[in-house]
Amino acid sequence: MSTVRRGLIAVISGPSGSGKGTLINRIVKQDANVCYAVSATTREMRYGEAEGVTYYYKSDAEFDQLVATGEILEWDSFCGYKYGTLRSELESKISKGQDVILDLTVPGARAIKKAFPEDCITAFILPPSIEELEKRIRGRQRETEEQLKLRVHEAQREIELYREFDYSVINDDLDTGVDHLWAIIKAERLTYKRNSDVLNRLNLKGAIV
Ligand code: ADP
Ligand code: 5GP
Repeated sequence: MSTVRRGLIAVISGPSGSGKGTLINRIVKQDANVCYAVSATTREMRYGEAEGVTYYYKSDAEFDQLVATGEILEWDSFCGYKYGTLRSELESKISKGQDVILDLTVPGARAIKKAFPEDCITAFILPPSIEELEKRIRGRQRETEEQLKLRVHEAQREIELYREFDYSVINDDLDTGVDHLWAIIKAERLTYKRNSDVLNRLNLKGAIV
């Protein structure tokens, strides 16, 4: 009898500008079995973003309605906007064996870890320095100067929380950062708890097991 391995939930957190989105894009492009769970947000769509690709963009009322119906599994406020994980982006995918990556604030990471303790692993992305972080946020030209300052301020508080995570990845050289995140996902796929039915998937009749 062959069964499908349940997908894992890889929660990625880290300050704005640390490179979470860049790393995640690289990982989902290199493995069709990994997908990104698109969140809902009340923040406005920015240049280069698209509905259903970067986020599902909602009004405050629409967002609150999704929370009330239970379609949003967890949500958090960040720099004045709401962000939430959609049930539809998560549960059906992991039950079909798809590995799902989420990009969440630290409280969001805690909530998903609590809700899916067996499926979830957490990784915190660290920038090489605050100066480089500020340079990266400025370089992507997405936020106003005021929003940038708020994000850098928020980053200094968030970085302290990296110890809560299963893994930390320093995103200095991008290729190295991708390799490290990818190594975490590959190793987690091979853990015993995700493969306890491995003998059923093999033809080992006659072996002493
Ligand atoms: P986040 O999703 O954490 O807010 P992004 O992925 O948007 O961060 O990255 C912020 C900016 O930094 C982007 O312009 C991106 O191209 C750039 N960037 C990401 N990783 C690196 C890296 N390792 N070295 C240099 N620039 C990077
Ligand atoms: P941004 O505005 O840069 O796209 O995202 C801001 C922050 O919101 C990032 O730290 C990101 O991790 C977080 N975020 C995005 N989607 C969600 C979500 O569904 N839930 C939570 N808790 N945080 C999210």
